[in-house]
Amino acid sequence: MKQYKMWIGGNWVDAESSKTYPVYNPATEEEIARVALGDRSDVDKAVTAARKALPVWSKKPQAERSQICMKIAALMQEHAVEIGKIDTMEHGTPAKTAATSVIISSQRFEWAAYNARSLMGHTVPANSEELVYLQREPIGVIAIITPWNVPLAMVVGKLAPALALGNSCVIKPPSINSLTSLKLAKLLDTLGLPPGTVNIITGPGGVVGEALAAHRGVDMVGFTGSCETGKTIMSLASQTVKRLQLELGGKNPVIIMDDADIDTAVPDLITGQFRNSGQICGSPGRYYIHEKVYGEFLEKFKTAAQKLAVGDPADENTQMGPLVSAEHRNRVEGFIQSAIDEGAKVVLGGKRPTNPPMDKGFWVMPTIITGVKQNMKVAREEIFGPVACFMEPFNSDEKALEMANDNRFGLTSYVWTNDRARGMRFANELQAGTVQIGHSAGSGPELPWGGYKESGIGKEGSLYNLYEYTNLKRIQVDLRTTKK
Ligand code: NAD
Repeated sequence: MKQYKMWIGGNWVDAESSKTYPVYNPATEEEIARVALGDRSDVDKAVTAARKALPVWSKKPQAERSQICMKIAALMQEHAVEIGKIDTMEHGTPAKTAATSVIISSQRFEWAAYNARSLMGHTVPANSEELVYLQREPIGVIAIITPWNVPLAMVVGKLAPALALGNSCVIKPPSINSLTSLKLAKLLDTLGLPPGTVNIITGPGGVVGEALAAHRGVDMVGFTGSCETGKTIMSLASQTVKRLQLELGGKNPVIIMDDADIDTAVPDLITGQFRNSGQICGSPGRYYIHEKVYGEFLEKFKTAAQKLAVGDPADENTQMGPLVSAEHRNRVEGFIQSAIDEGAKVVLGGKRPTNPPMDKGFWVMPTIITGVKQNMKVAREEIFGPVACFMEPFNSDEKALEMANDNRFGLTSYVWTNDRARGMRFANELQAGTVQIGHSAGSGPELPWGGYKESGIGKEGSLYNLYEYTNLKRIQVDLRTTKK
């Protein structure tokens, strides 16, 4: 059995406790590796190492830091197939998309590298006897705590800007699938970074994550994960008033107007809904469909969902693999049962497959639930699985808008109409960090991503995100009292 150590201060080390824990393949239930079980003492060591590296790394010329980030991107691209295979094994990502997703992630390093080089300060208009200028500086030690749903991409989304801008980092990757992050650390280890610039600690969130969020030596927490954990982190981080970037959950509305092109909307939304087995924060969560097109949309969506190739993620033809763990599969099934108990109807799926190879592994078939009401659990909470919730049809724009906004989350939203002006009116009123009109395609490093309401604080991607990984300093010089 392959054993993985943690990376602290430039060394590959066992946990202080010497304990390890298993990683499973979600498609086969086989144990595929063991990783070090970190705890508070390992966190202390990693934070000490990151603090020691900080003055060295942060004082390197920006050009040098950016060149290293470009090298990381190149290494990720070179090893994309290998990393993709690990992702398929530890997460169930279909092989068809796994390597491409590594390449897309690597572009976060390229983008951060380029843009960090032109993140200029400003001078502020003052009187002729005074010089006032603003400069951006690294924040310090950043704790990066990330979820299991796209394991490597979530780490890279924070590591790339943090590192490019001169911060040192302690990564706590997802507990259940940390192997792609450990592989990234192996690649970083070949680049001669000052020891401790990047550290990686594996172990449970309740121990390693909490220790990092509360640690006096950590200046900022970059967190992606559930709203509930985000709140815990906020509270722990408040003890030392840490900076926070929180990318949390969503319950994203999809509004299908009566003038929408259903034949374009359906294939797009099928991809958006069932990609990564629905384990995506931006997945459609609630479908509000105009009563005039409800029947047509449901029928076409159902037919397309039935055709999805669900199966072994290592097979190049597979479109949808398993869920990440038995625990998560049970949670998704609990949501489906709650919908039935509350009076909704499962019109497709809702069950585990029984045919090999899916008689083992953590599967739920593509599922459609109809008759969902606003107050049902499946309408209010994030399911994070291959489950489309069709709400009761609407018959006025005002009603659709009111129901779409009636939720504690505000991550993203989707509007389908052929009337661009009508769509843009919705865009102004929807309470979400993103509104996509006429598509549900993914994001890029230049685009800001982040939620309204309980979906989080701050942005991933874009210059706004780069700013979040820096402190802004005002320097004010009186030219009369400083003569030389
Ligand atoms: P989670 O909150 O359970 O865990 C996220 C990370 O936090 C993991 O590394 C975990 O080990 C750690 N953690 C758990 N408890 C902790 C604690 N008490 N203190 C500190 N750290 C702790 O989330 P998850 O189940 O891994 O991921 C799914 C969630 O992530 C969903 O809600 C999804 O919407 C969200 N997500 C959001 C985005 C976004 O961009 N907004 C992207 C991906 C996932």
